[in-house]
Amino acid sequence: MEFSPFDIQQNVALGPLTTLGVGGTGRYFVKAESVEKVRAAVHFAEVHELPLLVIGGASNLVISDLGWPGLVLEIAIDGIRQCSSAAGEIFEVGAGVDWDRFVAESVSGDFGGIECLSGIPGRVGATPVQNVGAYGQEVSETIVSLLVFDRTDNRVRTLSAAECHFAYRKSIFNSDACGRYIILQVDYRLSRERRSNLRYRDLEHYFAGQPTTPTLREIRKAVCEIRAAKGMLIDPGDPESRSVGSFFKNPVLSDVAFARLQGKAQERKLRVPSYPALARQKKISAAWLVENSGFSKGYRRGRVGLSQKHALAIVNRGGATADEVIGLKDEIQHAVEQTWGIQLDPEPVLVGF
Ligand SMILES: Cc1cc2nc3c(=O)[nH]c(=O)nc-3n(C[C@H](O)[C@H](O)[C@H](O)COP(=O)(O)OP(=O)(O)OC[C@H]3O[C@@H](n4cnc5c(N)ncnc54)[C@H](O)[C@@H]3O)c2cc1C
Repeated sequence: MEFSPFDIQQNVALGPLTTLGVGGTGRYFVKAESVEKVRAAVHFAEVHELPLLVIGGASNLVISDLGWPGLVLEIAIDGIRQCSSAAGEIFEVGAGVDWDRFVAESVSGDFGGIECLSGIPGRVGATPVQNVGAYGQEVSETIVSLLVFDRTDNRVRTLSAAECHFAYRKSIFNSDACGRYIILQVDYRLSRERRSNLRYRDLEHYFAGQPTTPTLREIRKAVCEIRAAKGMLIDPGDPESRSVGSFFKNPVLSDVAFARLQGKAQERKLRVPSYPALARQKKISAAWLVENSGFSKGYRRGRVGLSQKHALAIVNRGGATADEVIGLKDEIQHAVEQTWGIQLDPEPVLVGF
């Protein structure tokens, strides 16, 4: 398939496409609603020797002020198909489907497995990339397979969940095989029997005293309300949500490193918070580290700052540049390293730096 000149846009401003609202222009831009169009876009990039940037909803991207010198390919493949199999209900979902639309549809059909992931922005195709997770659930628990376009031989293949090597905010797509695959479809196994394990503190508090087991709809409502209170639900009217969500991952510490951290905390008469959901994975709260390194919610640094509702969200307070965002990121990382000897890793993808 060849593109008509109208299919490819040139010099497209990328900042307005992102939830953070920073970044320069993309030299070329294509929106692909089909596998054929993905194939043609890859071919175009190869023929013209252009670097390729694949995007979904651009909610986890910090794009450099210099923009992207090659082709930006937005994956917009639609469609949700439900298939019954001996192994349960499989939902085959196009990579371009809005993630929260899929969650909403599964919850209203009373299918459990992703209800705690309500309200996360972005598209289905990006969920395996960083193994999207929140409130005790990760997509790796329900993904069974993926349809991908393999850029090494330009073929469409199926990958099993096991081949994705999912871990905390990690998969082959953001590590060993970064840039190799374009995700076209993700297949999830959801179940009417599956009931969420409400082990996350905020959810436990929300439902404390409720005599009946919360329904999927109640859990979705609770998660969305909790997220909104933290500025973690995209709302054009809420400047606290002009972000990429959490900017830093929760560090995973060895027992020795954790003991060292506890020692440093005791010297400062502080206690490292330990929530069961974090402790199980030996994670510690990045938000606690940030807040105890000199940054409180609402901290300002010119046109960027920390959300007033969440210490881990760097927000664009209006007209910020990517350089300003990175400046604040560096300042926080430096302070946490100096104070606690811990390196915070950014969660979003830094593009073009
Ligand atoms: C307010 C807010 C709250 C958030 N809360 C959470 C949260 O609770 N938990 C969480 O895990 N994340 C959270 N995020 C981060 C983000 O929403 C997720 O990572 C989301 O899955 C990104 O989807 P996207 O379509 O916007 O991906 P993009 O930002 O467009 O891309 C992210 C990465 O995935 C790659 N990618 C995207 N689509 C494809 C594809 N089809 N094939 C191959 N690679 C692809 C891109 O190249 C890039 O590397 C939050 C973000 C915001 C703004």
